[in-house]
Amino acid sequence: MPARILTKYIKNKIGQSVILAGWVNVRRDHGKIIFIDLRDRFGLCQLVFIPKNKELYQEADKLRSEWVIEVEGVVNQRPKGMENPKIETGELEVLVEKLKILNAAKTPPFEINEEKAISEEIRLKYRYLDLRRERLKNNLVLRHEIIKFFRDWLSDRNFLEIETPLLTKSTPEGARDFVVPSRLHQGKFYALPQSPQQYKQLLMAAGLEKYFQIARALRDEDPRADRQSEHTQLDLEMSFIEAQDVMNLIEDMILGALKHILPQFSVHQQKWPKIGYQEAMKNYGSDKPDLRIDKTDSKELAFAWIIDFPLFEWNKEEKRWDSTHNPFTSPRPEFIEFLEKINASGKLTDDAGLEKIISRQYDLVLNGHELGSGSIRINQSRLLEKIFQILGHSQENIRENFGHMLEAFEYGTPPHGGIALGIDRLIMILAGEPNIREVIAFPKTGDSRDPMMGSPSEIDKKQLDEIGLEIKKKK
Ligand code: ASP
Repeated sequence: MPARILTKYIKNKIGQSVILAGWVNVRRDHGKIIFIDLRDRFGLCQLVFIPKNKELYQEADKLRSEWVIEVEGVVNQRPKGMENPKIETGELEVLVEKLKILNAAKTPPFEINEEKAISEEIRLKYRYLDLRRERLKNNLVLRHEIIKFFRDWLSDRNFLEIETPLLTKSTPEGARDFVVPSRLHQGKFYALPQSPQQYKQLLMAAGLEKYFQIARALRDEDPRADRQSEHTQLDLEMSFIEAQDVMNLIEDMILGALKHILPQFSVHQQKWPKIGYQEAMKNYGSDKPDLRIDKTDSKELAFAWIIDFPLFEWNKEEKRWDSTHNPFTSPRPEFIEFLEKINASGKLTDDAGLEKIISRQYDLVLNGHELGSGSIRINQSRLLEKIFQILGHSQENIRENFGHMLEAFEYGTPPHGGIALGIDRLIMILAGEPNIREVIAFPKTGDSRDPMMGSPSEIDKKQLDEIGLEIKKKK
């Protein structure tokens, strides 16, 4: 019994019998002939049913959009003038001899084969239908290709892909944590990771030298159209390196991916400019400037590094100093002496002069979007402790929350640094999409709901009891 082939392979099979399977994309009836465009993941192919075989014809007459079928038939050249140059198999058609209906389908809530404005709620409720559409499918294919390229490229350069826990403890990345109640330790909670930051640094303490992970970062953000509560990062960390090494690595990797996968893009400058934070703010009024020559050209890519960020910024509302990036970011060496002398025993005020301290952070920007952020880290226990004091943590809080980091740094942690690249945003730009939701298989709405699964949802009393939780009545 011959096996099913993909529609795109009928090109080599003219005059032969083939088996195809897929979805009814469109049905057209011309006189007595039924034409079906059969769709599989790789394309379309025209099927022809003629009334000669009565039984087969009656069966074919039942077919509607999105039914799943298997057919056997002979590949023929289409009659002159009937070719369709828009599809890959447009010069051919299959005269069907056998039809098997594998599954019927209800009329979909929106057209699969046409680009029409559909409400987001409906699209996400029927995401599995939305994903049948060409545009979204292509985005997922592109996403796969880029991630695969990064994976292979880093693996070839001795990076190890290592998974870090999802059930963890809060790490300070500046957003709210999602928390998970523990059943075994009632009253205690795990936090979902905002980033694998501490683990990846501890992998450097472990002597693994080069780590990467396609990591999910979970942040309980307030509703914002361009944010998702979970996003994917290419997270990496390296030992015995300088900022320049990380920047070179990322440049080579991304340019390599573009050359290989998307050669139609033009990169504005092959050597990406480095712009000081102050200079960027002064010249462009933003720390993520759009440096394209033609700002409307979606095929032009202008990458740049933003460097020389201040290590701290004054938080006016809370009246305290915050880390610009994260507390693990190293200051430039010339500021270490000044930092060590700061007396952080009391609450520091806005005139403590901390804004002068420049860090070893580097941000990657592309066409006006922040694509990633990273830094050379502190690997000295005393200095990290000082940073936490400056940020207003009590001695007890430091020991409880970051004791393991301080301790690890006392057991020979090498100099190290890394970066996290926002995969969703990168693919969004490369796919020419206006929103990261278009490049994520199952995104949430702007206010973090999944209309298809119905999450978040309530849980039953028994489950609540097991974890020892009671829900406060909404006022
Ligand atoms: N953990 C940081 C972030 O998620 C990135 C880094 O510094 O490597 O933004």
